[in-house]
Amino acid sequence: MGSVLCLVTAAEGAADEVSLQALAAASALAAGGAVHALVIGEAGAAAAGAAAHELGAWGATQVHVATHPSLTSFAPDAWARILADLADTLGVAAVVGPGSDAGNTVLARVAARLDLPFAANCTQVVPGDTVVVTRSRWGGSLLEEAAINATRAILTTQPHAVAKTSTGGSAAVATFAPTLDDADLAVRVVGHVDAAKAGVSLAEAKIVISGGRGVGSTDGFAPIEELAGLLGAAVGCSRAVTISGWRPHTDQVGQTGTKIAPDLYIACGISGATQHMAGVKGAKKILAINKDHEAPIMTGADYAVIGDLATVVPAISAEIKRRRG
Ligand SMILES: Cc1cc2nc3c(=O)[nH]c(=O)nc-3n(C[C@H](O)[C@H](O)[C@H](O)COP(=O)(O)OP(=O)(O)OC[C@H]3O[C@@H](n4cnc5c(N)ncnc54)[C@H](O)[C@@H]3O)c2cc1C
Repeated sequence: MGSVLCLVTAAEGAADEVSLQALAAASALAAGGAVHALVIGEAGAAAAGAAAHELGAWGATQVHVATHPSLTSFAPDAWARILADLADTLGVAAVVGPGSDAGNTVLARVAARLDLPFAANCTQVVPGDTVVVTRSRWGGSLLEEAAINATRAILTTQPHAVAKTSTGGSAAVATFAPTLDDADLAVRVVGHVDAAKAGVSLAEAKIVISGGRGVGSTDGFAPIEELAGLLGAAVGCSRAVTISGWRPHTDQVGQTGTKIAPDLYIACGISGATQHMAGVKGAKKILAINKDHEAPIMTGADYAVIGDLATVVPAISAEIKRRRG
């Protein structure tokens, strides 16, 4: 179907896994045509050497490295401009990126700039005059098959849905200075706040106990913290909680939070909205503590305690302490 351009995000001098997966989709789409990879910014400069060897081995036939003195941190509008301009210069038939937060943010902007539709989080791509994709929607609860009726397909690949493919090839690397102005840099990362490192990490914990709106307040999490301490569990929460400011966003479980895969997930005062459940699909067992026996979470739960969490959670902690003597 022609040549394809793929955005590659990199950290510490190496392309990330989700970008290599996107590159595999780009190669499949190109079906023998040229596969251009674009690495941008500070990371681009650092990754240039690695990209020359690495990206060729993962399907790229040409690597473009964009460096600019103002690109010292992630700036989605600037990245989108660079990607869209390069797509026009190369005349590619499709632009692909990783379905990470950064990838989706940039590719959505590319589509807006080019006035083209955008297919996010594709799990499968079928090349052709009209590209056909399967994409994950509604937090993974729906798979949609769609034909992209556009002069150029713009899409991202759902992380871990497409396997990265080693081709053992090599790619030429060309560095260039993109044209940017102040407006392109108005939105940019100006600092990083490290997540609190104390305790067990949500993503890796064997047991996660989350609180929802039913917890009622920041202080309402004290009994949940106590139970988590007894079980060596991590504490999570629903978006209703982060929006209320009771817990930081880093604690949020779900579609727009952390996706977890514990052996046991205990959901306290959480209704079980689709977007929340999208984050707990990997849990082996779910225990719901809720005063409403008809709450949606009951359909996904393995066990349930119907009652007031303010009574049930301390009762579980008390029983654990009693048994442990
Ligand atoms: C694009 C998008 C992305 C989203 N991403 C996420 C996400 O990543 N994570 C997420 O969680 N949500 C997400 N949401 C929000 C989601 O749709 C729900 O609004 C949210 O999950 C509801 O949180 P909740 O279950 O805590 O609150 P509610 O839906 O209000 O439920 C509260 C529950 O607590 C129970 N309850 C109340 N008091 C008690 C008590 N004393 N004891 C026991 N039970 C009690 C109630 O019966 C009820 O079931 C997203 C929404 C959108 C639109």
